Amino acid sequence: MPQQRPILQVGHPILRQTAEAIADLPDVSIDQLVADLIHTLTASHGVGIAAPQVAASVRLVIVASRPNSRYPNAPMMAPVAMINPQIMAYSDQQEWGWEGCLSVPGLRGFVPRYQQIEVQYLTPKGEQKQEILTGFVARIFQHEWDHLNGLLFLDRVKAAHHLITEEAFQAQMNQLVGAAAKVLA
Ligand code: ZN
Repeated sequence: MPQQRPILQVGHPILRQTAEAIADLPDVSIDQLVADLIHTLTASHGVGIAAPQVAASVRLVIVASRPNSRYPNAPMMAPVAMINPQIMAYSDQQEWGWEGCLSVPGLRGFVPRYQQIEVQYLTPKGEQKQEILTGFVARIFQHEWDHLNGLLFLDRVKAAHHLITEEAFQAQMNQLVGAAAKVLA
């Protein structure tokens, strides 16, 4: 049975480590970790999670965009487990958006990310995949990929006034999303 694992909070040293590559797939302990991460993510209303957030310092992320209370406009997709992911190509264009993180509770930051990326990764069965991700899904990937390199969205924020509380974000969501569109234009 998948288990909900505790999520490390900012300040925990594991969140600042470079995660290790995973060798020899398939692996039952990795299958269990994937199931636990998806379960933990769903229970926490997240759209992505990286293994280091549950104290497993390995290169595995889950991208699972879906509309929920924290991200009402997120596109719907089935959760995808990406092992040893790499970014092969970036778009010239970046876009700004408000991000949160299950390891940084109660805060949102205004963060630029590449609008489109080409990624390569292994599935839990060890199959190699290559995909082009755009928009919000590309943003989730870049956020989770940062976790594998010991980075948090806080490191990507350009100015202190680009950090606000979750409560302030929820109260002003429509204006803030409109402002993000203006920065783009
Ligand atoms: Zn995060």
